[in-house]
Amino acid sequence: MSVLVLIEHGEGALKDASLSTITAATQLGEVHALVAGDGAEAQQAAEAAAKVQGVAKVLIASDPAYAQMLAENVAPVLVSLMGNYDALLCNATSEGKNIAPRVAALLDVMQVSDVLSIEGTDTFTRPIYAGNAVATVQSSDAKKVLTVRGTAFAKAAAEGGNAPVETVSATGDAGLSSFVGRETSKSERPELTSARVVVSGGRALGSSEQFHALIDPLADKLHAAVGASRAAVDAGYAPNDYQVGQTGKIVAPEVYVAVGISGAIQHLAGMKDSKIIVAINKDEDAPIFQVADLGLVGDLFQIVPEITEKL
Ligand code: FAD
Repeated sequence: MSVLVLIEHGEGALKDASLSTITAATQLGEVHALVAGDGAEAQQAAEAAAKVQGVAKVLIASDPAYAQMLAENVAPVLVSLMGNYDALLCNATSEGKNIAPRVAALLDVMQVSDVLSIEGTDTFTRPIYAGNAVATVQSSDAKKVLTVRGTAFAKAAAEGGNAPVETVSATGDAGLSSFVGRETSKSERPELTSARVVVSGGRALGSSEQFHALIDPLADKLHAAVGASRAAVDAGYAPNDYQVGQTGKIVAPEVYVAVGISGAIQHLAGMKDSKIIVAINKDEDAPIFQVADLGLVGDLFQIVPEITEKL
């Protein structure tokens, strides 16, 4: 089976999620990686992709139209290549989830989303009901289009490979959308979806000031990324891109610290695969304790500063 992986990259470096998607792709067949981008950054990313173990060939499509990875521009180049491939794998990230459905629609096939495991060349598992059940799905489509959940697959080794890099024809600007602007938050902290430790705060923090006064110093001590429940985000205590859960980010760090978070199923859907879950909550019956490995029952306004100080 021949498999194409769409590489996600930024500033010339590969995103960790793509390394996981490459691992998933190697379970299906020979892996070629497409880097779409503009100029030197795309070239740099292609060179990085060529070193990833498991990648047999890197294709590079360079055009200013791919600089912002607009789905309307990137989907046509993928479709133009899919004649040579049996499957396309994208990350189940905002970028992959934006592009893959467009490719599936243009190929007139059914996308399989959020793949957790590869059971065979046409059979995959994926979460349903906010992760409360895992469905095994079989696709009879001639070409498979999958989005892959990064936390479900180990990252492929970023060094050690030596794949050839081949230039493919760019399809240019489809003229269907244009880039207006991007607002990104810059942080010294590790990225939420790939951090080894995540400290998340919930509604109980009560205000943005208290959220940052309590959660940030604890996260700094633990070299952790900061996350939040949707209630905390909706209340404006934390920015949108902090949200962990069904409609936020999926994380599976080594340690997840949930501070003043009740443990609603929609929140658990985003973090329950974390290796060690620590919960701090004043309600001993809070559902978060059902998934927690370590639980502290008490007032977070006392416990969190105490832990931070001790660390
Ligand atoms: P609450 O449920 O209000 O819990 C606050 C907790 O803090 C309580 O357990 C309380 O005991 C504890 N507490 C209060 N004061 C203190 C104190 N002083 N010290 C210690 N503990 C204290 N939610 C997400 O998080 N992510 C999602 O992606 C998401 N997607 C959703 C999608 C849909 C379609 C829907 C319907 C809901 C979604 N939700 C999501 C919302 C979810 O159902 C919950 O409402 C939300 O997770 C609750 O956030 P919370 O735990 O911070 O708040």
